[in-house]
Amino acid sequence: MDNRYPSLEINLKHLRSNIEVVRKKCEEQGICIAGVVKGATGLKEVAECFRDAGVQYIATSRMDQIVSLRKGGMNYPMMLIRVPMMSECSDIAEYVDCSLQSELTVIRAVNMEAKRRSRVHDIILMADLGDLREGFWDKEAFLDCAEYIEKELENIHLLGIGTNVGCYGSVLATNEKLSELVDLSKKVEERIGRKLEIVSGGATSSLMRIWDHDIPDGINQLRVGEGVLFARDLAVYYGYDMSMLHHDVFKLKAEVIEVKVKPTHPVGELAIDAFCRTPHYEDRGMRKRALVAIGRVDFGDLSDIFPKEKGITLVGCSSDHTILDVEDCERELVPGDIVEFDIDYGSLIYLSSTRTVNIRYI
Ligand SMILES: *Cc1c(COP(=O)(O)O)cnc(C)c1O
Repeated sequence: MDNRYPSLEINLKHLRSNIEVVRKKCEEQGICIAGVVKGATGLKEVAECFRDAGVQYIATSRMDQIVSLRKGGMNYPMMLIRVPMMSECSDIAEYVDCSLQSELTVIRAVNMEAKRRSRVHDIILMADLGDLREGFWDKEAFLDCAEYIEKELENIHLLGIGTNVGCYGSVLATNEKLSELVDLSKKVEERIGRKLEIVSGGATSSLMRIWDHDIPDGINQLRVGEGVLFARDLAVYYGYDMSMLHHDVFKLKAEVIEVKVKPTHPVGELAIDAFCRTPHYEDRGMRKRALVAIGRVDFGDLSDIFPKEKGITLVGCSSDHTILDVEDCERELVPGDIVEFDIDYGSLIYLSSTRTVNIRYI
């Protein structure tokens, strides 16, 4: 076993169980799951776990993750969920089965690239229902675009329509909001004279509708990442019962490099810290603290890691060091000891993508 620290432990058994539980719960209500792997930066083992748990697509916002999964032998339907850059159109036609789209000029370019390869590329046309990130705002323009794709673009198949809420605009995925998408899908179907295969009703935040059994008829896909990787947000912020899911898929471990009793207030004339900020320091007298060999380079923001052990609290950090208060910790920490942390989505995106962290699967 490779014992380099910091290490990120990923429990693939628990992850797989989470995906299967959510997938089955959704399928009972007629919903398929696109498994979103961008939170774990598209790690191969994580993507394989989603595949083995039987998701409809493996989905990510990043083309490089799709390309590297494909080159690593992943032979499974893959979906690009960030509306693409014009410069990605050739890779889309080459590597992606289905993409979310919102600009006709880009869709036309994908059509050309697909044509050159004698392929047909599936797209989901995005409508903005108020969250104000990607998607058509003007619903007439949306319908015109759908009709144009259907009639004029031979190498693009309009697989369905979709929306995203709760990302920029913090809009809730209410039954009313998602019903707007179903209404729009019916208008598209009228225009193009056939049924759409997919109506994609959002991300983890739309799982609330599954848990409450009130997702509108007509929605048949959700794109879920956080809800299976952490299953934390719906429980913490909305009080949903997520107890059937594991909350320990990820565990962070870091090594203690110094343990000393020191003042809690810096000594000397204070100016700025390593990030040119002027923080406030509370004077709590002399306290025992441990320095661990991990920092912002590894996890991003200190508020996204959580010491697991009783009596250990976060004090501060710089790029490569994190200071812990261990005055109330029962364990007599010494250099070489390992301290464990829970993490959240915000730190996982860093921890899973930096060369400085040793990723281990259990
Ligand atoms: C990131 C993303 C998702 C998944 O979001 P979670 O909250 O992690 O489930 C779904 N759809 C789009 C368009 C995204 O960008």
